[in-house]
Amino acid sequence: RYPAARLYTDEDPLVILGSGSLMLAVGNSSSAWLVQFYSSWCGHCIQYSSTWRALAQDVKDWQQVVSIGVVDCAQEENFDVCKDFSIKFYPTFKYFHAHSPQTDRGTLYRGANREIQSVRQLMVNILQNHTKVDWPDHCPPLKAYSSVELLPLLGQRSDHYTAIIVEEPDSYVGREVILDLLQYYGVEVKRALSSELPLLDALKITTFPSVYLLHPNATHTHLHVQKRLRFFFSSLLRTLPGVHRRLRSTSSTSGVPVVTDKQGSEPWRDFDRSKVYAADLESALHYLLRVELATHNTLEGEELKIFKDFVTLVAKLYPGGGSVVKLMETLSDWLLSLPLPRIPYQAVLDLVDNKMRISGVFLGAELRWVGCQGSRAGLRGYPCSLWTLFHVLTVQHEAMPTALENTGLEGEAAPVLQVMRRYVRTFFGCEVCGRHFEQAAAVGVKKVQNREEQILWLWNQHNLVNYRLAGSLSDDPLFPKAPWPSPNLCASCHEEKNGVHVWNHNNVLLFFRKHYGASNISPKYSL
Ligand code: FAD
Repeated sequence: RYPAARLYTDEDPLVILGSGSLMLAVGNSSSAWLVQFYSSWCGHCIQYSSTWRALAQDVKDWQQVVSIGVVDCAQEENFDVCKDFSIKFYPTFKYFHAHSPQTDRGTLYRGANREIQSVRQLMVNILQNHTKVDWPDHCPPLKAYSSVELLPLLGQRSDHYTAIIVEEPDSYVGREVILDLLQYYGVEVKRALSSELPLLDALKITTFPSVYLLHPNATHTHLHVQKRLRFFFSSLLRTLPGVHRRLRSTSSTSGVPVVTDKQGSEPWRDFDRSKVYAADLESALHYLLRVELATHNTLEGEELKIFKDFVTLVAKLYPGGGSVVKLMETLSDWLLSLPLPRIPYQAVLDLVDNKMRISGVFLGAELRWVGCQGSRAGLRGYPCSLWTLFHVLTVQHEAMPTALENTGLEGEAAPVLQVMRRYVRTFFGCEVCGRHFEQAAAVGVKKVQNREEQILWLWNQHNLVNYRLAGSLSDDPLFPKAPWPSPNLCASCHEEKNGVHVWNHNNVLLFFRKHYGASNISPKYSL
């Protein structure tokens, strides 16, 4: 195992190196490396760690061809290796070409500019400075193609898309997008320069950068992007039909797509990704009440309190009234009226299943995933619907500020998050997920001051989970985990500052109000 470095943790998308691992990692490697040697007592290194972490996140998908590492020279066990690599000042940045010998002590990066965009461009330059002999194993060509090479591709059939990015000579967008798409199959990205006049004439391109798309069926089109930024180009290409992320598991390193046929007898339900479906919310509650909680024979003490709070929260904030609200209100009244310190869970099930049905109020008797259906059994479903439910509740809480009055929850700054946190910690069947969520919530939720921040905290937390899980076995190829909302759903949510993608929080909030708001919840497929 790599030793723990104090400024960085295993959760960060970079490799923590040290005496036992540095030479093994960078010598004879199939990828290039960029390593920061730092000292955990150096104030500048501490300040800079957030930039380095953000850079690592920004180029996470490039790591197969250029990896980011850190070595903490303040740790005693690393003294020798830092001396061996001649590290005198902190931080020191060194890069290593792919296939460099074990004796290579790296090349110093002396650039004064260590901002994300400059270091990212340095990484592109490092890659391009390789020769044919030491070219990183999985690195696609980064060169600009000529008109003579590209024009014959027009009108040709292929088994994948080819995207041609045409750009000014000093632009890095083309190379960055090529590297951003490294983990995806189904599309090949090539770049050409704005000086290729025959190509510009043929494709009728006048503005730069532009993307031109050659389809597998031999047709070709100019691809429209709302903003000519790296994030928009990459995001658009990643979401083309038939373009999928390679899975990270060892069994799928060949990039073979997982079967996308749905197993079992469930019919595919057509749906619109810009909508939220009541059927998913109802199925979340169905699963939660009848499956997840049913594994508990009795509820007492803290567990009973958490369950009551959850039921109250849903009864008060679930949008649109109807069966669900009636059921949760009845359940809530019943729970509050019981003087017992412990209740058998069977009594809850009886209420949900039988008594309510007699009075005509019932929750769907089956799971019916729509926006949360997976391309095959075992993917998506319940966890997707639980996120969706809580996003809806944060938005409803903002829309109905007084809804929780006299419930005992009104005193909390972020009641939806607190209830979610306690529920996930105590009952959510995925224990590791619960632990991760609790770790984040223990630090973050107390900083949430108001209902808007409550919405944004959950949004951000969900995105951090998406980043972590992208390409993992739970990643459904039809619904790849990615920063959300995508530019397709909300272009104004995305901006670029100093060449780095940033979110426009005001517009994310506006988007959330619309997307997770009551009027965007479709009753299609619901009871
Ligand atoms: P999901 O991530 O479940 O998203 C569902 C839908 O919500 C998406 O289709 C999209 O429409 C929308 N959405 C996506 N991102 C956002 C966002 N940032 N804000 C608002 N809406 C968004 N799995 C693990 O393997 N490890 C974990 O540690 C882990 N932790 C979890 C913690 C919690 C609290 C929950 C509820 C689930 C957790 N999971 C974890 C499960 C995982 O996050 C996914 O829910 C699951 O893999 C199903 O993924 P999905 O493709 O359906 O998308």
